[in-house]
Amino acid sequence: MARGQQKLQSQAKASEKNSKLKKQQGHSANDQKKAAQKALVHVCTVCKAQMPDPKTYKQHYENKHPKNDLPEELKDV
Ligand SMILES: [Zn+2]
Repeated sequence: MARGQQKLQSQAKASEKNSKLKKQQGHSANDQKKAAQKALVHVCTVCKAQMPDPKTYKQHYENKHPKNDLPEELKDV
C-alpha cells in the first residue's frame, strides 16, 4: 500500500513541477508581450487614454482635445 501511495505522490509532484514550468514559461512570454505593448502604447497626456500608435494618438488628440497644444512627440507624426 505504502509503495502505491509513494508512486502516486511522486507522480503528483512531477505533474506539479511540469505545471509550474509551464506557468513560468507562460509568464515570461506574457512579460515579453507586455514589454512589447508597453513600448508601443502612447498615453494621452490629457485623458490618459492609451493609443497603440502615434498616428491614432494624434488623431485622438486633435479630435478630443483641440484646445490643447499638441505634445512635442506628435508634432512631426
Ligand atoms: Zn485624450
